[in-house]
Amino acid sequence: MGGTSRPEVNEPANLILLCGSGTTGCHGAVEANRTLAVENGLLLPAGAVPEEVPVRLFKDGRMRLVLLDNDGDWSEVA
Ligand SMILES: [Zn+2]
Repeated sequence: MGGTSRPEVNEPANLILLCGSGTTGCHGAVEANRTLAVENGLLLPAGAVPEEVPVRLFKDGRMRLVLLDNDGDWSEVA
């Protein structure tokens, strides 16, 4: 696993729960398909502001494009 001393990496807008490990489940799929993961907001390029990067996810019965905030909430992108 990687490590960092940057405190903002643990802010809610920068966190999403994925099943598996770096080689299994959804976490493994993200690591194995990093370009696609960046396109879908599941992996952020260095310097990206998490609150400004839309995340594509399946929530409440359908695919949504959402922004995460540091209160642990989300809002749908129009
Ligand atoms: Zn999964």
